[in-house]
Amino acid sequence: MAQILEADLTWIDGAFEQGIQVEVTDSGVIGDVGPLGRTPSRRLRRRALVPGMINAHSHAFQRALRGRGETFPQGAGTFWTWREAMYQLVARLDDETFYRTCLLAFREMLAGGITTVGEFHYLHHSPAASDFAYDRLVLQAARDAGIRIVLLNVYYRTGGIGQPLAPAQQRFETASLDCYWNNMAALGSVADTPLQSLGVAAHSIRAVGLEEMAALRAEAQRRGLVFHVHVEEQRQEIDESVAAYGQPPMRLMTELFDSMDRVTGVHCTHTRPEDMERFLAGGGTVCLCPTTEANLGDGIADLVHLSAQRGRMCLGTDSNARISMMEEMRWVEYGQRLAHESRGIMRGPDGDVARPVFDMATVNGAHALGLEAGVIATGAVADFAALDLDADQLTGADAATLLPAFICGSDASAVAEVCVGGRWLEP
Ligand SMILES: [Zn+2]
Repeated sequence: MAQILEADLTWIDGAFEQGIQVEVTDSGVIGDVGPLGRTPSRRLRRRALVPGMINAHSHAFQRALRGRGETFPQGAGTFWTWREAMYQLVARLDDETFYRTCLLAFREMLAGGITTVGEFHYLHHSPAASDFAYDRLVLQAARDAGIRIVLLNVYYRTGGIGQPLAPAQQRFETASLDCYWNNMAALGSVADTPLQSLGVAAHSIRAVGLEEMAALRAEAQRRGLVFHVHVEEQRQEIDESVAAYGQPPMRLMTELFDSMDRVTGVHCTHTRPEDMERFLAGGGTVCLCPTTEANLGDGIADLVHLSAQRGRMCLGTDSNARISMMEEMRWVEYGQRLAHESRGIMRGPDGDVARPVFDMATVNGAHALGLEAGVIATGAVADFAALDLDADQLTGADAATLLPAFICGSDASAVAEVCVGGRWLEP
């Protein structure tokens, strides 16, 4: 039976409004929205209804690293020393611990109002077999948690540019494009629609050669699938790319692909302005992961430039050392404030910061994942977070200040309940 939702405030067309009802159809999609004059089947008192947030870049299994690798007896660490710790984790993850870790990460996302995860998944294989068993386990964990997932299944072929895989990377291997697409076909039949869908990812220019990168992207485009890739998170990756190919990774991709439609570049921390302009002009989306980029000491992307060009940006929790979209939203702006000694870097045309940043966590993430989501509007999926207007952290906020109060001052405790595909989950 269709549900009629009515909260005290509803986020619609970029503002909180009163007296709005939202119809949710049996198929888990939003029907009519507005002052419908219907009898609500679910009256959400002292709640503000917002679209469920979209985590466009996650490696769920890395949740098991939280608190580890945070001491530095050898002196200052880097991304690359962290990667060694991550490889040690990979060596000890078995089926049960992998599944449990993913389930925990997905539940933590839901508790904080994230209803969709773009899982950038490269730990494909069991410890002893090349079986892609973990692709199914991650889907199983998402199903059991109740989160919507786009499995961004990762192509991973080389250990570095032109290098064989290291022993620690064997469980990531996709041996050929044929092998990859055969596995995608098999996954297509086990994915639990409508909450599960597939996307294509190349791990990075370190892990995929240029010819295969182009072929993978072309096939993804032919099938209408989104394409994600780690790009220029670390200067060393750029140096290696320039040494091997004469150009940085982003420049190579803009030359390899005939358009950037449905392409998401993850991080782009050190991307040159001219390369970024080409990427954005081609329709590309940038995914930023501020807390992970801070944790790993990656650097700070030039968002002054990106924001001025109205570049499409979304957000991810990436390594899941912290799982909070509120934190990603505030730090995408705060990192820029610290770097530039000014405020309001991510502001939109009307000077508002909260709305463009919330768009990153919702509708832009949905675009990156190829979903009709991240918005309370007819035809979008019925994924919501209900904010608790009586939460201490939101006290004093009104309809005009609720969104910035939520972004700057709250954590998961401000999220009372979530709904995925029309189904309300127990908090
Ligand atoms: Zn990542």
